[in-house]
Amino acid sequence: MATALELSKAFNHDKVAPAGPHDTKQFAARCHCGAVRFSVSLPVASLPLRGYMCHCSICRYTHGTYARNGVVLPPGVALGWANGSMSKNLTGYTVPGHFTLRQFCSACGTTIGSVGPSGQWAIMVSLFDEKFWQFRAHNFPKSVPDGGLLEWLFKPDAIGTGMQQEKKEGLIWFSPEDKDFSVPAERKSGKDGTERLRVECCCGGVSFTIPRPSQAIIDDAYMGNYVSPSEPLRKWKAFLDLCRDCGRLSGASVVPWMLVPRVVIEPPLPADLQGSFGTLKTYQSSEPNTRGFCGVCGATVFLATKHREPTEAQAIVNVAMGLLRAPEGVKAEDWVTWRTGKPAWTEDAKVYDEEFTVSLVEGHRRWGLEKYGEAPAFDVI
Ligand SMILES: [Zn+2]
Ligand SMILES: [Zn+2]
Ligand SMILES: [Zn+2]
Repeated sequence: MATALELSKAFNHDKVAPAGPHDTKQFAARCHCGAVRFSVSLPVASLPLRGYMCHCSICRYTHGTYARNGVVLPPGVALGWANGSMSKNLTGYTVPGHFTLRQFCSACGTTIGSVGPSGQWAIMVSLFDEKFWQFRAHNFPKSVPDGGLLEWLFKPDAIGTGMQQEKKEGLIWFSPEDKDFSVPAERKSGKDGTERLRVECCCGGVSFTIPRPSQAIIDDAYMGNYVSPSEPLRKWKAFLDLCRDCGRLSGASVVPWMLVPRVVIEPPLPADLQGSFGTLKTYQSSEPNTRGFCGVCGATVFLATKHREPTEAQAIVNVAMGLLRAPEGVKAEDWVTWRTGKPAWTEDAKVYDEEFTVSLVEGHRRWGLEKYGEAPAFDVI
């Protein structure tokens, strides 16, 4: 016969107490290199938190992406820093005329978030491996004249993801105030009088231009692969990258990359990003990949990979498209052809955030069909 103690053990074995009003759950966050680590304790009753995408020009120019993906922590929730990582390893940047302090890892450039005068944090959701939010808010959607990322997420006829459903029901929150601070981009020419595309981070510490593909580039057996056969304008190629490394480092769920031969960048960009180039700092995120970010404002700027470097003179670099100043809009449609049929690393992204990924992949594909009559799926390696 079982004893009272044994009966008690058997009875309670799989029992989980329902969440009470004061229960909290802890979530761990880290930058890519691990120098910045912290955790947050969130009231279980508040989950999932409402995630937001900010489309303003400041976020685009401080992240290098089309939107910043964050969550505002409930008042009173503090970051529990591991091993004093806050003071030692963070660089802060405040946009002139603003009050919030944006913070990023000094070593790898991972954007951590921003803290306002009240001490309340907005943190980047990509720092967490466990999902405790749902994207339900868009800040400054009108700051993007051509619709930017928003246009790819919300095609009216796109498939019915949760986001789509909630938009129909009017639950997605769009910030009513839309005072942006961007200066319209002007057309720019180089010393030779031909057109240039300007690229610049928020603080201006990294600033350069890109010309259109020349005949010499088109004729090059390797670099010619990165020129789009578009008419009448000669264009480069671009794609969306949903890998976790790019997401964590940039503080966004997707990074738009433009592929450009290193040798066309003005002023000259040092090979493998090693050498002086404005306020650029570098970080090796994996064996073949070196990242370039602004050491002052934290913007993601470049990715140089050994996979696209048959010789030093033919190296192709990724340029973060959130920094572009194309007069026609953030998608730089006069400068690039988008690989809308094949965003990169979507299978990994689906595991991490299925709702966002499915919505973006389908919206992007349909946009391509409308623009190009097809969904291009050219190779980028
Ligand atoms: Zn780091
Ligand atoms: Zn913003
Ligand atoms: Zn900068």
